[in-house]
Amino acid sequence: MAVKAEYIWIDGAKPTAKLRSKTKVMLDLDEVKSLDDLPLWGFDGSSTQQAEGHASDCALKPVNYYLDPIRGWPHVLVMTEVCNPEDMSPHVSNTRAACVDMAGKHMGEECLFGIEQEYTFYDGIKPLGWPDNGFPAPQGGYYCGVGSDEVYGREVVEDHMDACMEAGLSISGINAEVMPAQWEYQIGPLGAPEVADQIWISRWLLYRIAEEYGVSATLAAKPVKGDWNGAGAHTNFSTKAMREDGGIKVIEEACEKLGKRAMLHIENYGAGIEDRLTGAHETQSWEQFSWGVSDRGASIRIPWQVNVDGKGYLEDRRPNANCDPYVVCRLMVESVCDL
Ligand code: ADP
Ligand code: MN
Ligand code: MN
Ligand code: MN
Repeated sequence: MAVKAEYIWIDGAKPTAKLRSKTKVMLDLDEVKSLDDLPLWGFDGSSTQQAEGHASDCALKPVNYYLDPIRGWPHVLVMTEVCNPEDMSPHVSNTRAACVDMAGKHMGEECLFGIEQEYTFYDGIKPLGWPDNGFPAPQGGYYCGVGSDEVYGREVVEDHMDACMEAGLSISGINAEVMPAQWEYQIGPLGAPEVADQIWISRWLLYRIAEEYGVSATLAAKPVKGDWNGAGAHTNFSTKAMREDGGIKVIEEACEKLGKRAMLHIENYGAGIEDRLTGAHETQSWEQFSWGVSDRGASIRIPWQVNVDGKGYLEDRRPNANCDPYVVCRLMVESVCDL
């Protein structure tokens, strides 16, 4: 038996990086037992906005792998970091390395993240299931809806959930969203960088599975202008101290700390964040910072149950669907634990 290893990396596209991947056939390998079985590889960085043509090689360093649910065992999906081939230092487009450093510095705090990844299905140039002329009925009945007049693309969503589970990802749920053709799944709670690796792999699986149905999925933050919800990546966060009795005090202190660096977070939470965080559609304006219990119009929400229990986690509602979870996790640890 041979192993087909799908090497996945994040390119240098701006303002939003994209996923790329290619397959390595390893004839002499029966099964991947550890990262050591997966060699370094390379690619043409001049085709991915990561290098100039005259020095175009970039290196791929395997950092994590999962069972490939599409090809099945023993094939794998390999998460990689892009590195400079001269010395294997992180490439400028490599945001994972800094996330690993920051998380490693704060292992003792036992940080956990749960990310709610929202996305929108498209059929050509319009959201899946939307009429050719005009708009569907206004928002109201679609969130967690059921029925072919309420939700579009469920078969793809189900396939994607199964694939994530078969790959061994910590997917904790799915739901239809407020805008028709918009959906969400959650990954976590997990530490960093694992949660971010799994978000990127789950995104790759989403695009890949949607291929089979001839639809596309987009992480655009405000795919339809006007009175339609945008797509976010609410990031739920806790430290060990927040999860212990009396942790609510630590959560409130964290909210205050996050407020001190509000604009830095906004600038790093995904392209087009001003279009999504308008102050309407269950968001706080990108220009304001606020936190509150049960408040879906705040930048940071403390869930109702957390307030009742006096411990738990906070929800940063600001990250866009198209955010880089390595950057979001690094900033969260930096702002709450490092400064
Ligand atoms: P919402 O009510 O905002 O839609 P969801 O149920 O979609 O909430 O998502 C909640 C997320 O919070 C899940 O991803 C879950 O894993 C995560 N979560 C739960 N407990 C913790 C915790 N202690 N620390 C970090 N994340 C957590
Ligand atoms: Mn949710
Ligand atoms: Mn949601
Ligand atoms: Mn949420």
